[in-house]
Amino acid sequence: MDIFELDKQYVAPTYARFPVNLVAGKGSVAIDNNGKDYIDLGAGIAVNIFGFCDEEWMAEVTTQLHTFQHTSNLYYTFPCAKLAEQLCKRTGLKKVFFSNSGAEANECAIKAARKYARDTKGEDYYTIVTLRDSFHGRTLTTLAATGQDAFHKDFLPLTDGFCHIEPTVEELRRIVDEKKVAAIMFELVRGEGGVLPLTKEFVAEMVKIAQERDILLIADEVQVGNGRSGKLYSFMNFDFLPDIVTTAKGLGGGLPIGATMLGAKVENTFAPGLNGSTFGGNPVACAGALNILSRIDDNLLAGVMDKSDYIFSTLQGAKGIESVTGMGLMIGIKTVKPAKEIAMKCIERGVLVLTAHDKVRLLPALNIPFDLLVKAIDVLKEVCAE
Ligand SMILES: *Cc1c(COP(=O)(O)O)cnc(C)c1O
Repeated sequence: MDIFELDKQYVAPTYARFPVNLVAGKGSVAIDNNGKDYIDLGAGIAVNIFGFCDEEWMAEVTTQLHTFQHTSNLYYTFPCAKLAEQLCKRTGLKKVFFSNSGAEANECAIKAARKYARDTKGEDYYTIVTLRDSFHGRTLTTLAATGQDAFHKDFLPLTDGFCHIEPTVEELRRIVDEKKVAAIMFELVRGEGGVLPLTKEFVAEMVKIAQERDILLIADEVQVGNGRSGKLYSFMNFDFLPDIVTTAKGLGGGLPIGATMLGAKVENTFAPGLNGSTFGGNPVACAGALNILSRIDDNLLAGVMDKSDYIFSTLQGAKGIESVTGMGLMIGIKTVKPAKEIAMKCIERGVLVLTAHDKVRLLPALNIPFDLLVKAIDVLKEVCAE
């Protein structure tokens, strides 16, 4: 049986896969079962931020594997504690809860916000405001947070207590007057929703409104975080510190990890027993993440911005391209032809790109060599112009 049939017969059909069977990879180059090379501009959806089989990361991970692979959260381990320390020192947040995915990191943020609001304002204050075209995960609660009705309709009823607004100051003012709001949860660049950055004006007003009313701000940095925006976390491009920051994807460099960073207001919201995760803080994942985090430095981030500028300046106004949006190396391209068709043509020509709604989406490894990037962007540009 070939791989396409095997998968079709036995794997739940939740993914619209591209017809590509990857068997190996190194850096930003992936190889399929026919030996064909691809320049990877998707990085496993922003996960492989140092590409495939990064030597330094593999060394840390394998050293830890040979030390021990797992224990429970009933005991202390160094990789987990050290990773928490680094995340706090580099963000200004105070404590970290570890889990295994973005959805789980967001679940924890939602629980923390509900508990904080209940403790400080009363049990009616549970509403969490999120944005239209946001994406926060696939569990029933994070789906409820996700502001895209298309994801909801088959699974009703979802968790109660969420409402979605357009990111305008008027809508935000209206909703905080109307509802008893515990928190506002947002991606500073909505990824799955079409790579849509928030404006500085909206963010500034949101911060002001939240301060006035002691509403918590939860930044979902699962996709845009970990250096992709040109800063370690995307909120650092704006002038505020969120109360809670969630991340996952790129932090693990390819192993599952989720992190919910808790600021001063909520650092002690959870008492022992109020949240947990068997695999959360896994020493192998944390040892790898420590290495990844230590390498997201000014030098790497300057490279991210150089590459970002190159992509924007090359593609903006090019034939067959209507707009280019995003931040750093998280880029959405509205093409004249359907995004899926562009992605398929890129695959034929040895370039892997992603889509998001009606856009082509690029999330390359942060260390993609410039010459490979130039080659891949040339292909994309040609495909769009055809
Ligand atoms: C991918 C993503 C999630 C969900 O992460 P999983 O690891 O798939 O659970 C949540 N929020 C954002 C912004 C994401 O991009």
